[in-house]
Amino acid sequence: IEETLVLIKPDGVERQLTGEVLARIERKGYELVDLRMLTPSRELLTRHYLEHEGKPFFEGLLAFMSSGPVVAARVRGIRVIEGFRSLTGPTDPTTAPPGTIRGDLGRAWETPTILNIVHGSDSPESAARELAIWFAA
Ligand code: ATP
Repeated sequence: IEETLVLIKPDGVERQLTGEVLARIERKGYELVDLRMLTPSRELLTRHYLEHEGKPFFEGLLAFMSSGPVVAARVRGIRVIEGFRSLTGPTDPTTAPPGTIRGDLGRAWETPTILNIVHGSDSPESAARELAIWFAA
């Protein structure tokens, strides 16, 4: 059994897709074990997005992610890290397959930022690191 960090990003919260995303996680059979809503600081986001520091989209990503409330969920299940990435679909919502969260609910908008509704940890190491950041005691 493992745990992953799921984020409903500011675009998802703003579009009132929180319930839809959490419902998909629950219907898949994963367990929600902790939830919080916050507008993340740049400091928190810099830690979360460590691997993207210095990339051309980094500043825009931080500005967007700190622009409004985010819902963070601790989600538990067997192979949930891989399973939630599969529910999510690939990064670009325009071409994400129908049936996935990004494919069903996302598309391109008139902004340079990719608005793709959710984040999910991509490995056990990332999950442990990210859960410690978002659910620090
Ligand atoms: P996430 O980590 O949020 O689940 P992902 O694994 O699909 O997304 P990553 O490559 O880890 O994608 O990128 C993290 C996030 O950074 C993306 O979800 C997106 O919001 C943003 N991002 C990635 N690549 C670009 C890009 N080329 N232009 C703009 N934003 C980008």
